[in-house]
Amino acid sequence: MDTLENPTSNSCDDLTELAFRHCIFPMVSTAELHREGPVIFAHGSGTHITDIKGREYLDMMSSHTRANSLGYGNLEVAQAMLDQAKRLHYVGTAQYLTEPSIKLAAKLAELSPGRLSKCMFVSGGSEAVETALKLAKQYQRESGLKPRAFKTISRWNAYHGATMGALSVTDWLPVREVFDPRVPGHSFVAGPTCYRNAYGVSDEEFAEICAQHLERQIQLEGPEWVAAFIGEPIMQANGVQIPAKSYWQRVRDICTQYGVLMIVDEIITGFGRTGYWFASEYFEIEPDIMTTAKAFSAGYAPLGAVITRCEIADAIPMFRHVHTFSGHATACAAANRVIAIKERDNLIARAKANGEYLQEALKSALSSHPIVGQVRGIGHWHAVDLTPDKCTKAPFADDTVKAVVKRTRELGVIVGAIGTAFEMAPPLIATRAELDQAVEACSQAVHDVAREHGLD
Ligand code: PLP
Repeated sequence: MDTLENPTSNSCDDLTELAFRHCIFPMVSTAELHREGPVIFAHGSGTHITDIKGREYLDMMSSHTRANSLGYGNLEVAQAMLDQAKRLHYVGTAQYLTEPSIKLAAKLAELSPGRLSKCMFVSGGSEAVETALKLAKQYQRESGLKPRAFKTISRWNAYHGATMGALSVTDWLPVREVFDPRVPGHSFVAGPTCYRNAYGVSDEEFAEICAQHLERQIQLEGPEWVAAFIGEPIMQANGVQIPAKSYWQRVRDICTQYGVLMIVDEIITGFGRTGYWFASEYFEIEPDIMTTAKAFSAGYAPLGAVITRCEIADAIPMFRHVHTFSGHATACAAANRVIAIKERDNLIARAKANGEYLQEALKSALSSHPIVGQVRGIGHWHAVDLTPDKCTKAPFADDTVKAVVKRTRELGVIVGAIGTAFEMAPPLIATRAELDQAVEACSQAVHDVAREHGLD
C-alpha cells in the first residue's frame, strides 16, 4: 500500500496504462497519442529532464510551454515555497493579502514599463487575459470615457489563451470554431509576420499595412464602441514573429488617438525571455495594461498577473472580477525568489548576450541549408522557418517540421514545432556549451530529415 512518505513507484507500463485510462490529453490527437504514446517524465536537474525510461534530454523549450526559465530542481525556489507553505500557505482572495503578495506587487511595479504600477494576481495566462479584457471594459464604462464600449480587436494568428474571453481574441491553433459562438464584439486585423505574408510585400511594408488595418478597423467598428486592442509583442504563431519597432510605436499612437486601451500580452515574452524584463522595453512602448505569467514564477507555481496604471485602476470603484487563488502566498513566494535569482545572477542581460550568440550559431549552422527559409530570434527565443522552396517560401504541406523536432529529440534535445517553424526557448540558465549542443542536434536533424525527403 502507498504511504505519504513512500509512494509505491509504478512501472513504466503501469503508468502509461493509467495515463491512457484516466488522463485527457489537451491538443494531442488520439491517433498521435497512440502512435507516439504519452511522454512521462520522472525528474529534472538544471537544463536536463529524464523520462521514466531513464532517457535524459537537454530541454531547450523550458518545459514545453517556455515557462521554466530557471531550469529544474532549483533548491532556492523550493526552499522559499516550503518556508511560505509552512508559515501561511494561502489566505483566500479579494482584500485578504500576505506579505509575499504585496512585496511581489511592488516588485512587479518596479520592473514593469513606464507607469504600470497596480496589479492583480491570477493563476495563469488565460486568467490574466480574461482579467485584462474585463479591466479594460469596466474602465471604459466607469471612467465615463466610453460607457458603451464592449468591442475588442486582436490579430490574425494571435494566441491569448483557452478560456472563453481569451479564446474569443485568439486565432492561432485550431481551437476556436468548435466553441462558437464566442464573446460578441470581437474582430481580427492583420498582424505583422516575418518571412511570409498574405500580400507578398516586405516585412516592413506589411507591418505598416497591419498598423493601418488596425486604425481602419477601429474606425469601422466605431471608436466609441472599441474598448481595447490586445497583442503579443512578439507573436508565437509560426515561430517568434519579431515586428519592426515602428509597428508597435504606430499601434501605441493609434490606440492613444482613439482612446482604445492597448493590452500587451507578455505571457511568453515577460521576465527575461527576450533578454529584457519585458519586450515592451525593447519596443520602447508603454502598454495601458500588461499581462504576464509563465516565467514569472519560472513554472514553480501557477501564477500570472495583470498590471496597469493607477489612473486606470483607480477609476474603477469595485473591480467586478475575482479568482480563488489570486495572490496565492506560496506562488507569490516562489515568484519573489525567482525574480531575486534573476537579478542576483544577472540572468536578463545574460539572456541577451547568449541570445545573440545562439542566433549567430543557428544562422551559421543552418541558414544556407536548402530547406531553411529563415533563422530569427531574440534573447532566449529563436525559430527556424522551413520551406521546400526558397523562391516561393511555401511552407511544408507535410509533417517535415514535426519530423525535425522528433529527430532532434531522438538526438537527446527537446525543441518545439510551431506551424511552419521549429522553435528553441532555452531556460535562461542554459550555458553556451548547452546551446552549442542544441544547435548541433538541430543541424543534424535538419540534414537527416531533408535527406529522407530527397532535399539535401
Ligand atoms: N497568452 C499568450 C501569449 C500565451 O502564449 C499563452 C499560452 O501559451 C496564453 C496567453 C495562455 O496562458 P495559459 O496557457 O497559462 O492559460
